[in-house]
Amino acid sequence: MQSKLKKSQRVFVNRSLNMGRIRAIGFDMDHTLISYNREEFEALAFRETLAKFIAAGYPEELATLTFNPSLLIRGLLVDMDRGNLLKVDGHKYVKIAFHGHQRLERDVRHKLYNSESFKAASLLSVDTFFALSEVQLFTEIVDYMARNPAKIQKTFREVYQDLRRFIDLSHADGSIKNVVLADPGRFVRKDKQLAAMLIQQIEAGKSLFLLTNSSWDYTNALMNFAFDDKSEDFPTWRHYFEHVLVGAGKPGFFVGSQPFYQVMTDTGLLRLENGGLKPLSVYQGGNAVLLQKLADYRGDEILFVGDHLYGDIIRSKDSVNWRTLLIVEELGTELAKLELLKESLELIMQKLQDREECDEELQVIRSRKRHQARQAEKAKAIGEGKKAHYLLKESDKLTGREDELQLQLEQLDLQVKALLQEREAQVHPVWGELMKVGLERSRFADQVADYACIYTSSVTNLRFYSPFKRFTSTHDLLPHDL
Ligand SMILES: [Mg+2]
Repeated sequence: MQSKLKKSQRVFVNRSLNMGRIRAIGFDMDHTLISYNREEFEALAFRETLAKFIAAGYPEELATLTFNPSLLIRGLLVDMDRGNLLKVDGHKYVKIAFHGHQRLERDVRHKLYNSESFKAASLLSVDTFFALSEVQLFTEIVDYMARNPAKIQKTFREVYQDLRRFIDLSHADGSIKNVVLADPGRFVRKDKQLAAMLIQQIEAGKSLFLLTNSSWDYTNALMNFAFDDKSEDFPTWRHYFEHVLVGAGKPGFFVGSQPFYQVMTDTGLLRLENGGLKPLSVYQGGNAVLLQKLADYRGDEILFVGDHLYGDIIRSKDSVNWRTLLIVEELGTELAKLELLKESLELIMQKLQDREECDEELQVIRSRKRHQARQAEKAKAIGEGKKAHYLLKESDKLTGREDELQLQLEQLDLQVKALLQEREAQVHPVWGELMKVGLERSRFADQVADYACIYTSSVTNLRFYSPFKRFTSTHDLLPHDL
């Protein structure tokens, strides 16, 4: 079946995972079970946060800034001190850098970042979709500051700190939440396959739980909207899940020791839970070790499905040994584009092969020339001038071919570079592919490979596979096996 699936429907495997041994599946909510209309949702967060900047005394001209949903991609890094945005490869080399809307030239970029002292880990990583609107707003303000040097008397870091504060405030005072709750259909996409996918897992004997950082009222409203097809067996969305865990505080949930509090769903009040987790009840807080104990699962019997590399995946794998499925929504559109660009990749590979052959011949010629030069030296030293002269003449004959190959090599390099740029621009005009920098893995791709056991573009892709599927990784093979 797998071979007939489109790439955007497939589940990809980093580490072998036998679904037959998974007894419980946990789901994150935002951007995992619930997909947002990003244009609407992030624009709302952008506008509400911007309004708080202006209310706090930032120039009113900022009100003209607008959200652009396709300006940035996830996996970028923010250098708060310099106000720059970076795309970094797996070796931590900065390959693309922007200050506001100004691209940094190669030499500036190298001077700032590609030195020993640069540590990608000390920068802020744009991991979530929520962070995309946040970082775009930062970029816009940095750009405004570059164009109007005296108007904002703050460092870039101070601006970012304000930004964080205003976003938290927009979430806390309900300016984002209330608008979403008033009209969920504008912000959230309904996916008819969601319920079917969950039922398939339940019928296979797996128990499901929801584990979200969102609050109870928000979770309930969005899930009600997404699961409004009532059936006899599943009269409400809560009937799909054995445990509903809200306000979980991930990634702290995976390492902490907080108790569970039962949420009184009618009043929203909390009650400390000392016993087990009751079915159809809602809990807040808690921690992964306690959940395993109360529900009687081992860490490796749980598959956790989430979209946030750091909040959902890295800690759940490292601290409690849960198996992990990462949702990488962008792959849906990127893989569709890349399938259309298959021929361009074949052409790039062919050019690289030509380059290798060209380089090999060049090296052989250069070795031969070095050999002849050495022999000529020796001949000269023992007074065989004629032989030395002959050897050097032979060596000169190779120079023509050497120059030709050198030129060919340079041309091939330029062609590969142009083809790669063209290919990347088809995926994203500025930042290229999410998972790649040129032909190398991006930092984001490296983290996906390190932490997600399996990954896919949408949670409903699970329905294309048996709930007992043995996902097998080719990584278990050694280079000599292939
Ligand atoms: Mg999420």
